[in-house]
Amino acid sequence: MEDYRTKCIELLESRGVTVDDIADCARFLQADYHVDLKKEELLESVMSVLSKREVQHAILTGIALDVAAEQGTLDKDLCSILRRDEGLYGVDEVLAYGICNLYGSIALTNFGFIDKKKYGIIAKLNDEGKDSGVVNTFIDDIVGAIAASAASRFAHRWVK
Ligand code: MG
Repeated sequence: MEDYRTKCIELLESRGVTVDDIADCARFLQADYHVDLKKEELLESVMSVLSKREVQHAILTGIALDVAAEQGTLDKDLCSILRRDEGLYGVDEVLAYGICNLYGSIALTNFGFIDKKKYGIIAKLNDEGKDSGVVNTFIDDIVGAIAASAASRFAHRWVK
């Protein structure tokens, strides 16, 4: 079976998201627990999350749907829902939970928190999605879930 980690990193970059951006979100989620935490310290956890096949599949699926909605190659009602990032459409969050579920309750609560706070690249994706033509309906949740999972992994591995 192929490892899609490099492909996923390139795909995220093609949508304006770097692993550095995700590490910064993970650092934000851990900042209350660790003074002077650097995003570089979260990078290993981000890369580890990106190594999981289920995470890779969620990235491939979510970004494909965003791109297809931009190109208008989906069912027209679904296109319209995704383009508006309709508030009652929750499938983007459900896909993101699939990532968080691999990393336990800290990942899930962190995901809810960063989704509300819209920190860093997530705020940027959200704003960009309001422009006509750009659909970031799935990717903002995927990025939040990867950051939340990396923060959870970091928290569990921390040894005093
Ligand atoms: Mg979304």
